[in-house]
Formats: sequence, C-alpha cells, structure tokens
Amino acid sequence: MKGISSLIQKKNTNTIGKGVMISYSQYLHLFDKQVNQYLPQEKVLSTVDRIIYQSENIFRPDRPDYELGRFQAIKETFTLHYTKNRPYRELCELNKINPDLINEPDDLYRIPLIPHSFFKLFPPGADCAVWIGNIFTGPMSEVFVSKNDDIDNVIKSFEKAGVKISCSSGTSGKITMVPRDITSFRRNEYILAKSLVSMSYPFWSPEIKGLLLMPDPESTCLNIGRVCEIFRYAVSEVKYAVDRSITVSDIVKSGADKNLLKQAVYSSLLNRYLSKVIQYTIRWLKTQDSLTEKIVLIGPPFLYSLLFKKLKQDGLKFDFSGRSGVITGGGWKNEVQHEISGALFREEVRSTLGCDLVLDVYGMAEGNIWGIHCPEGHYFHLTSGFALPVVLNEDGKVLPYGKEGRFAYLDASVTSYPAFILTDDRVTMYEHCPVCRRPGPVLDPVITRFSHREHDNCISVMQKELTREK
Ligand SMILES: [Zn+2]
Repeated sequence: MKGISSLIQKKNTNTIGKGVMISYSQYLHLFDKQVNQYLPQEKVLSTVDRIIYQSENIFRPDRPDYELGRFQAIKETFTLHYTKNRPYRELCELNKINPDLINEPDDLYRIPLIPHSFFKLFPPGADCAVWIGNIFTGPMSEVFVSKNDDIDNVIKSFEKAGVKISCSSGTSGKITMVPRDITSFRRNEYILAKSLVSMSYPFWSPEIKGLLLMPDPESTCLNIGRVCEIFRYAVSEVKYAVDRSITVSDIVKSGADKNLLKQAVYSSLLNRYLSKVIQYTIRWLKTQDSLTEKIVLIGPPFLYSLLFKKLKQDGLKFDFSGRSGVITGGGWKNEVQHEISGALFREEVRSTLGCDLVLDVYGMAEGNIWGIHCPEGHYFHLTSGFALPVVLNEDGKVLPYGKEGRFAYLDASVTSYPAFILTDDRVTMYEHCPVCRRPGPVLDPVITRFSHREHDNCISVMQKELTREK
C-alpha cells in the first residue's frame, strides 16, 4: 500500500499565486505555516505529538514503524491516566491491569474502556464542578465555583483555569460533557483541520473564504462548533451564519431530546431564526458568486437541507464548480425522519451549488479521533496514527475487519481524561478503503446506533469515585 503523499503527488498539484505548483508536502507545509500558533513549541516533541504534527499522513503514518509508535503513544497516555487519575485507576485495578502489563500491541486490548454514555452522568448545577474535577487527569489550576452557580458559570470558571469543556448531544438526549486541557484541545482542532486539508488535496488554500453554519466557536460549548476555531487561521475569512451563543442551559431548557444545535436554536427563536440563518447564508453565497475566490461551507446536514429547500423555493442556483467545498458534521442524529442518503445529499449539493467536493466528518466530543469521507468512495478514513480504533462484539471481544460491531478506540492524544471510549455506534471497519488508495483503516459510510447500554458495575465504581469531594 503506497502512502498518500506519493500517490497524490503524481496526479495532483495545487496552484498558489500565479501558476506556482505545489506538491502534497509543500501543501501541508503551507498549512502548518498558516496555523503556526497551533504547533507545539517544545524542541523535543512527545511520541504522540511527533505522530500528529510530523506525519505527512494524518490517517496512517507512512513509516513502517507506525504501529510501534502508536503503541508507545497509547502506553504513555495510559500510564499517565493510571498514575494521575484516581477513579480510572480504580477501574484498572478492578480489571487487574496496570502499565507494567502493557508490553506489546496486543496488550492494548486489555486497557479498560469507558462507555461514552458515562460522560453524560454529571450531576446538575454547581455539583458538576466536583465531577469534572475528579474525571480530570492530574493537577488543575484552582477553580472557583459558588454553590448557586449554574452549569454555564461552572464552565466559564473552568475555562478561566485553562480547561475547555466540550459538549454534544447524541441520540439518548442527554448531554455529554468532557474537559480538555489546552494541549488536548488544540490537538483536536489541528487533527480535524489537517485531516480535512489532507483529504481535500489540492483544494485547500489560505485564500479560501469560509461560512460556518453554526455559532462563533467562542460563544458555544458545542464540540462541533468549538473545534472550528482553527479555521479562522487556516483560511482568509470566516463568517458565522448563527449569530447567537448556545449555552448548556439553552440545551437543557430545550429538553435536549433531539439534535443539539437544532434544539438549542429552536428553544428561543424557533423557525424564524432558522430562516434568518438561511437568508444570511444565501446573501453570503450571492456575494461569493460575484467574486472568484474558493469557498467552503461547514455545518450540520439539517441546515444544508433547509438551505436547499429555500433555494429551490426561490428558484435559485449557483455555480461554484471547481472552487467550492461542502463539509458536513454532526450527522443527522435524531433527524432520521428528514435524513436523506449520502448520494442524494451530494446530488443536492451539486444541483444547487454546483459543488463537487462534499466531505462528511465522523467524530465524537469524547475523543480526538476523526473519520473523514474520501471524495472517491465516501468511506470514513480514520486518523488512526495516534489512536487505535477497534470494533467489538457484545462480549467486548475484538472483531476482525469486515465484521459489524460496536466502535471503540484508545486515543493517545487526550491527556486530560481517559479517552479510551466504548461508543454506541454500530460500524463495520475495513483495513483498507475498498474504493480509494489512501491508507486505512476506514469505516463503512453507514453508521447506526445501538440502543443505550446500561453501565456495568465497573463503571458504577468509577462514578462513585467521581462524585467524592477531593
Ligand atoms: Zn477511500
């Protein structure tokens, strides 16, 4: 299997400025220069940072020793959480596992996983501060929280202490909340941006103008919005179609029983607000239509659907062919009644915007691992250099490639809580993409959900530890 860089250099080039061609390596170098403030400043990088920042191929490093590098990175992060995270150590002890027993790649499968639903168990109000403090690995700057603080004030207090809280909804309707230190958070943003830039080679350029169909990253705790802050640096101009903040209280008030962004927007401004978002988007598209720069739109599928509907109603069509990209993220979640197939969605994008580059993103608030559609086959290529993705059967045993089961992963890039996660997602993973020649592993485009799984005793033990005052 050839590496992505050698493969695409042969057939693609990018043009920067007037007729200057750049190779894939130069393209990535230019991206790194553009997001310079996200690069680690240390002279000697950690194992995981070498994989993230120095690998040309974010999906799977080209180096033959990549598996060993990933093993070392995961072992180092596991050792950190085992040593400095008391509740997680309790879970490990219950499973009779410690870092001394992790000596070769197969031993990684013994690392205890945390069900993603566990991150929904935080208590209400100011009490959640104790929970966040306890799930956090290692020392944290002092956080001042008063008894009457609501959850948004608690989150602001953590932000002041350098802890970024990311939220998401999911299908159960309960909010997920995870704390990232600045390093883990910046890695998450960088990995997402690098994987999109890499997958869309040679499309990206610093001159791109972007529209995010979501709020400004600073005014939301939604993971999908927060991780987009890096795009301010990666492209020349970013506008936001959602001009209001979305807080956890908004989401709680709205019942949080459906798509998070939609519910939060619906909660106060209902359809009138959504129509304002769509009108803003159409005005932006009209402006871009009169210009020549490349454009990119990023947002959840349901907002695109509303956009397409309005464009059709108004008899409007654009032709951004060759200079546009559409990125979708967040899935349809509970929007299944409105869900359309990927192929139909891409056809809508083509017929209304004239855009051929459509990339769907698979990701979770609980980890820094991302899956990005390849434009050729629409399989989700996983950023697996620093994280081990696995598919498990109902007994927790690892399934071979090609078998359907529950998705789980060991993510070495998150140092603020153990991102060793068992998801509710039903997936099929392949070692290589059946369509394109980029390295695997990949997930089948069809991802469904298992019904909510109750926590086992091990997790109850951990939960008890988390609510205990330090
Ligand atoms: Zn592919």
